[in-house]
Amino acid sequence: MSIHMQGRCVCNKLQYSLDLDSPEDARATLCHCYSCRRAFGTNYGLTAKVPIQAFRYESGTPKKYKQENGVTREFCDNCGAYVCEYGEAAADKFRYIMWGSLDDPSLVKPKGEFFCKSRPDWMPEIPGLFHKKEIKE
Ligand SMILES: [Zn+2]
Ligand SMILES: [Zn+2]
Repeated sequence: MSIHMQGRCVCNKLQYSLDLDSPEDARATLCHCYSCRRAFGTNYGLTAKVPIQAFRYESGTPKKYKQENGVTREFCDNCGAYVCEYGEAAADKFRYIMWGSLDDPSLVKPKGEFFCKSRPDWMPEIPGLFHKKEIKE
C-alpha cells in the first residue's frame, strides 16, 4: 500500500511531502542521546527514517544547522521548528523526519529505541521494540 503523507513546521512556511511504497518504509525510532535531548528540548527525539527520494519540500526553503557531531538539522527560519535531520553518513541517502511535524503520523509507529544508556530512570522502556544502548549496541 503506497502512501502519501504531508508535514509542516509550526507556522506553515515550510511544507513537505513524503511518498512511500509502504508505511513500513518509514522507520520511526526514539533516541535518548544528549544531542536529540538538546535539540528537541524534551527527554528524547522521535524521528522517522525515510529514503531521501521519498522526501520533498513543497513550500519554503529550510535553514540548516550542522552541529559538532556532524548531525545537520533543517528547520523553518520563521518559527524555528525542526522538520528533519541526518548525520554525515546518511546525508545523501536518508532523511530523519521529525515525527511530530507530520500532519498524520498515526501510521508511523516506533520500532525501536537508541541510546537507552542515556534514558532517564523515570522513563520506562517501550515494550515490544528493539532497544540499543547506543546506535549499534
Ligand atoms: Zn515555520
Ligand atoms: Zn539522538
